[in-house]
Amino acid sequence: MSFNNLKLIDPIRKAIAEKGYETPTKIQAQAIPKVLTRKDVLGIAQTGTGKTAAFSIPIIQLIHRIDGAGGKKPLRALILTPTRELAIQIDENIRDYNKYTKLRHAVIFGGVKQGKQVAALKQGVQILVATPGRLLDLIGQGYISLDDLKIFVLDEADRMLDMGFIHDIKKLTKLLPKKRQTLFFSATMPDHIIELSSDLLYQPVRVEVARKSSTAEAIKQYVYYTDKKKKVDLLHHILENEIGEEQTLIFGRTKHGADKLARKLRKLNYKVGAIHGNKSQNQRQKTLKGFKAKKIKLLVATDIAARGIDIEKLRYVINYDVPNVPETYVHRIGRSGRAGEDGIAISISEPEENAYVKAIEKLIKNSIEVAEHPFPQTTKPMTEKEKKEWNKEKQRRKQEFFKARREAKARQEGRGSKR
Ligand code: AMP
Repeated sequence: MSFNNLKLIDPIRKAIAEKGYETPTKIQAQAIPKVLTRKDVLGIAQTGTGKTAAFSIPIIQLIHRIDGAGGKKPLRALILTPTRELAIQIDENIRDYNKYTKLRHAVIFGGVKQGKQVAALKQGVQILVATPGRLLDLIGQGYISLDDLKIFVLDEADRMLDMGFIHDIKKLTKLLPKKRQTLFFSATMPDHIIELSSDLLYQPVRVEVARKSSTAEAIKQYVYYTDKKKKVDLLHHILENEIGEEQTLIFGRTKHGADKLARKLRKLNYKVGAIHGNKSQNQRQKTLKGFKAKKIKLLVATDIAARGIDIEKLRYVINYDVPNVPETYVHRIGRSGRAGEDGIAISISEPEENAYVKAIEKLIKNSIEVAEHPFPQTTKPMTEKEKKEWNKEKQRRKQEFFKARREAKARQEGRGSKR
């Protein structure tokens, strides 16, 4: 299969060739022809499969056919995505594929002043990428009209719901024209997502690629067991002896832990950036830009902050902390080995965290190879006192997890009721 078989117009083909894409990915080959024939699509695919191009390219072609470029045109396509980072990346992709079709497009997201976004909207936008909160705010303020909308994309539906956006989505979908084309993407299809998709889609074509477990299989994974006190030394050893020059994404569980680790790595003379919830949107964007420009070698991130970030040709992901929620592990390692490249995921586990590793193995239906430790180990069986402390710590982590989830939900609902 080549892009030539997809009935794309020349300006789009030229832009794709300049991106260096030679063949469409599986989801692109399946979805692009369906979208072009105006069908609703249910795409089951995660980030890294090329799904952004799978919806962006045919959308550009359809809107180009409807309106052409130039002059003030109404909003024709709306792409809703859960995070700011993802929104920016989708818009950057659209900019590239739209290089010669020159449709007007813009991206809006919260956490920054709205002035520039409003100015862009006033110019007239044909394709809008948005996160839910800011979108509803600006619709409420009268800056966005959905009356002439033809295509609605819901991206990463499962994460959207995990992040507590269900009320926002319901509010928004009431405002959409009934006659429209809907493209719905989700990495997983639990019952509540199936329900949402059946509310939004009309006789959809189902397109499914690489389930989570098989994606995880394509990534070489291994785990080091080490005492807490030796984790930084071990990480240093891995960076020096295994990874060398390659840029690496390192996951930490907490904001505080991520900051602390970033400081320790800086002391070891690495160029380090950290992204987590305590960093402002501008700081995060600056860090991400620095990483993409290769000015930063190590990016330390927490899970929420890392959602949706797209860094090309990333080979290594390190779990400095083993996640206590197994699905988080799958999301994390999905940051490596994108679009057919091989990835390597290295986890560092304290011996006491072995139960987390087992839970992950159960989810991915595979065992994770235990790497031989480079230093002599001091691990002894836990004393009763240590066991008690560890149980307390586990309890604390569990509560922390539920608290974070409650807070995310409350934030969404709180914001909803203010409007
Ligand atoms: P996505 O799943 O949309 O986040 O895309 C993952 C990565 O694959 C991005 O860095 C894209 O630029 C890249 N990509 C998308 N389509 C192709 C293609 N047909 N050939 C090569 N790389 C691609």
